[in-house]
Amino acid sequence: MTETGIHQITIPTPYAVGDVHVYIVKDELITLVDAGVHTKEAWEAFCEGLKEINLQPKDIDQIVLTHHHPDHIGLVGRLDHVDRVYGHELVNLWLTRDQDFMNQYLTFFNNLYDQWGVPEEFQDIEKALKYTLKLSTPSELTHILHEGDKIPGFGDFVTLETPGHAESHLSFYNPNSQVFLAGDFLLKHISSNPLLEPPVNQGEVRPKPLIRYRESMQKVLDYNFSEILPGHGEVFSGHQPLIIDRLAKQEKRANKVFEFIRQKPATPFEICQFLFPKHYKHQFGLTMSETVGQLDYLEDVGKIKEVIDSGQSRYVANHPISNGV
Ligand SMILES: [Zn+2]
Repeated sequence: MTETGIHQITIPTPYAVGDVHVYIVKDELITLVDAGVHTKEAWEAFCEGLKEINLQPKDIDQIVLTHHHPDHIGLVGRLDHVDRVYGHELVNLWLTRDQDFMNQYLTFFNNLYDQWGVPEEFQDIEKALKYTLKLSTPSELTHILHEGDKIPGFGDFVTLETPGHAESHLSFYNPNSQVFLAGDFLLKHISSNPLLEPPVNQGEVRPKPLIRYRESMQKVLDYNFSEILPGHGEVFSGHQPLIIDRLAKQEKRANKVFEFIRQKPATPFEICQFLFPKHYKHQFGLTMSETVGQLDYLEDVGKIKEVIDSGQSRYVANHPISNGV
């Protein structure tokens, strides 16, 4: 149990990030925050964790989800007696496996990867999507959450929209105890990756995850959090220095990308290879998301621009090195 009476249950995942935490908040209702990943090992660890606090799966009254990733929504469908499932509306696309959205997801990545100069060998987005779906269970939200919403039976927790790591990301803040249920928005040991996602409707501009993530971090800078309960890693406090440090490191990385582009215009794939020479092959999705995040940021601050020629995208510095600026 954490200092403020919230129970943490740790569940294994097949992902590189390792274990994921879910939380049990006992108030008028018993609320499960996040639902692990859908594997046999995860279900067993979850049931074992509940047993240690004298609960069984059937005792859970409601589920609150921080975001749509499979290590956070995996077991919702196994708790099918629960008739209150809360989350961001985008989570529902993944819980219901909305077919139009899944098709749109594949088209979006296939088109972008072509445009960004990604070789065919890295373009197996369909396989990645199948694996993602295998690690969760079909289900449905019963309630959609927005900024400021409170949830009956869930103490004084208030919903905060914190997009970036996922466009669907919500965090929950209790202004009395100052506890912050952070999902993957703030982790102590690693900075969470702002991940590329398609727009909800085909043809719309895609979300810019790193820019959204920076805004979310700046949004919570002035909050006081007594205890931050994350989706991965240890419970912590002191988020202000952590956020300031993360923002500074990101700007430093962006600068490295800018210097590279100043030498020569480059495709997003070339920039990804430059930034992550050791990791881009086996962590392609993550490293590509991170790269494009930096490009979005540099474009947003007016340092670079995207030039698309014959369907191929290249990023160009607004002040090339030859200008001596
Ligand atoms: Zn996670």
